[in-house]
Amino acid sequence: MDDKNVRCSFCGRDKGEALILIAGIDGHICEVCVEQANDIIAEELFDKEGEEKGKFLLPSNVTPKVIKKGLDEYVIGQDEAKKYLSVAVYNHYKRIGLEKKDDVELEKSNILFVGRTGTGKTLMAKTIARMLNVPFAIVDATVFTEAGYVGEDVESILSRLLQVCDYNVEAAEKGIVYIDEIDKIARKSDNPSITRDVSGEGVQQALLKMLEGTDVNVPPQGGRKHPEQKLIKINTSNVLFICGGAFDGIEKYIARRLNTQVIGYNNRAKSEIDQENLLQYVNHQDLRLYGLIPEILGRLPVLTYLNPLDQKALETILVKPKNAIIKQYTKLFRIEGVEFTITQGALEFIAAQALEYKLGARGLRSICEAIMTDAMFEIPSQKEKKNLEIDLRYVKEKISTSKLKQLKVA
Ligand code: ADP
Repeated sequence: MDDKNVRCSFCGRDKGEALILIAGIDGHICEVCVEQANDIIAEELFDKEGEEKGKFLLPSNVTPKVIKKGLDEYVIGQDEAKKYLSVAVYNHYKRIGLEKKDDVELEKSNILFVGRTGTGKTLMAKTIARMLNVPFAIVDATVFTEAGYVGEDVESILSRLLQVCDYNVEAAEKGIVYIDEIDKIARKSDNPSITRDVSGEGVQQALLKMLEGTDVNVPPQGGRKHPEQKLIKINTSNVLFICGGAFDGIEKYIARRLNTQVIGYNNRAKSEIDQENLLQYVNHQDLRLYGLIPEILGRLPVLTYLNPLDQKALETILVKPKNAIIKQYTKLFRIEGVEFTITQGALEFIAAQALEYKLGARGLRSICEAIMTDAMFEIPSQKEKKNLEIDLRYVKEKISTSKLKQLKVA
């Protein structure tokens, strides 16, 4: 064929109209048709995948132990919480897979995590959703207040879930939602009759049905509902809710309860109680005193705690998880042709600093950024690449000239 007469075999565009014509054995295709074909493929595959997600069944080789092992790859420590989460998630998806003809109905096992900031609450929820390949959304309980105040309606929790699965309702109905800072909607007073914080309690009331399982009319774009908006109906019976909060100050309720129990008999002796980490003894009664209403607690039957991270755990978090920060830097530098190493002393110092900032593992990333930014800035433009070893001296120098001190929590 004469080169000038080459045309796209699909739409007929000639060389003058098409930007690119790709030659095949017996014809050509232009860039527009490539894109269209791509869309068709995506649509076809998505439908199939969506259908599969909608009928979510736990693969037969998955057991709570397998789930925990998967979590171990990303989350350091927190064994007890991982165990509780694995069992709850396993039961949840088994329950979804069951036909409803049995007379014993399995109840939904929404989960409540209690643990300081940066100890891995969100990470655990995120990891489990990724492992199971179900839609996952994170929402912050502080953005909700009762209708009439400025704030989002609780239904918008599900808008996020819909958005992440491209409005595939069936997939969203099997998803996982992590509600962060659930402690911030606690009633503010021990005694409900005095200065009661209505807005917190109102949000709790609004959440009840959704946690339990009901049809919810969801504003597709989130935010506040308004009359002209078209709403999408989602049933939450199979949505797994994981709530998390730091519950600052809850230790005093735990201590008080443990003390009275110790004074009584038949209970743990006082010496057996680990006073340093009272959170591990948390129970539903403590949370009620803290200000969660009993009905909410009833819908969060699986309660577990996360340990504060000590220096050793923080060090491990820097290097061990599958996507550990140090592994990420190593990869970034390798792309530049630079071998990156860091000494044990440097790692220990970074972990010690993070401990001081009281932000859990959350502080590690900011500290590493402060240390690494100069090198990341300089190295790509260096003509002769030298290997980079970060030692204690280097770390101390970079930290002393950084603005990190503002991170410190009083
Ligand atoms: P929170 O408990 O406040 O929800 P996150 O789970 O968001 O904390 O943790 C913040 C970041 O710190 C995570 O993205 C992760 O990189 C790191 N991190 C926190 N805890 C752990 C842990 N136990 N193991 C590994 N990384 C962790």
